[in-house]
Amino acid sequence: MTLVDVEGHVPIRRLIARAVARDTLPPSLMLTGPDGVGKRRVAVAIAKMLNCEAGTAPGADGPAASPDACGVCAACDRIARCVHTDVIIIEPGETGSIKVDAVRAAVDQTAFRPFEGRRRVVIVDDADRLVSEAQNALLKTLEEPPAASVFLLVTSRPHLLLATVRSRCPELRFGGLGTDEIADLLVTRHQFDATAALAAAASADGSVARALETGSGDYIEARQSAADLLRAFATASSPKRRLETGKELASVRRGSRSSAAADRETLTGRLRALGTLLRDLQLVSARGDRAWLANGDCEAELAELAPAYDTDRARRGFASVERAISALSRNASPKVVVDWLALQL
Ligand SMILES: [Zn+2]
Repeated sequence: MTLVDVEGHVPIRRLIARAVARDTLPPSLMLTGPDGVGKRRVAVAIAKMLNCEAGTAPGADGPAASPDACGVCAACDRIARCVHTDVIIIEPGETGSIKVDAVRAAVDQTAFRPFEGRRRVVIVDDADRLVSEAQNALLKTLEEPPAASVFLLVTSRPHLLLATVRSRCPELRFGGLGTDEIADLLVTRHQFDATAALAAAASADGSVARALETGSGDYIEARQSAADLLRAFATASSPKRRLETGKELASVRRGSRSSAAADRETLTGRLRALGTLLRDLQLVSARGDRAWLANGDCEAELAELAPAYDTDRARRGFASVERAISALSRNASPKVVVDWLALQL
């Protein structure tokens, strides 16, 4: 099983192939999507690409040929049989969970150079089964990834992972359509203009229905509020000013239909947008490949915000936003949530 043997997921495969060719694959990635769509197979294919002895073989994706593993050399063969010393697969044991010992053992190995291959690849399958202690052990490594190692977290339930872990891992969503595919459909079948289509697709979680439901206007509005907030917080240091600015986030446009439930939904949408911006800012600060940006259409805005939000601040911000969204879903008061968040970002 090499990358070209994986069915479907063409945009994801292209993205990976390009990243491997340019050596811009992030040191940690989360592969998410429903069970049975091939996430783990793609993770194994990545491990092969990074270690194949044939180097880069031409892919079968047409003229924009992508590198892929050969699938037959000794390294590919050993990876396929799960006996390659540099490709570590961690999965739930008999208890159904992944204990801290398994993670520590893998992390210890990443301190050394790969034994036989070029890159060490740690695949954590069913990563949502990591006990919190194990996630914390992993987190330290994700924060300072060892040079020759790549961590691939495979999960159908990413929301069960700590926000701090998720914030370190750009996400590859399987099972749904890619952002570009959705944007194309919105333009060709639903009369969106290109900018609005990209914005709606970015927030759609792989679903055209959700993109249409969210409506490009809503997402653009939510993202604009979120970006305004980040811009204001970049310089606002006094708690008083922060609380004032935070209020904007919970404010509702006059004239729009308003009820407690609708206001809560609007706020949640803005927080989601805030989360995607903060995750993108980490990528910009780390000078990652722009292909991994969720808000690729706002590159200029992200570049403007990046000096104020270094990796550390953006990461902490993302974790706070996740906590705020989860508090809102448990019926916390929007005002309390926004005030708390205003002091964290
Ligand atoms: Zn090979």
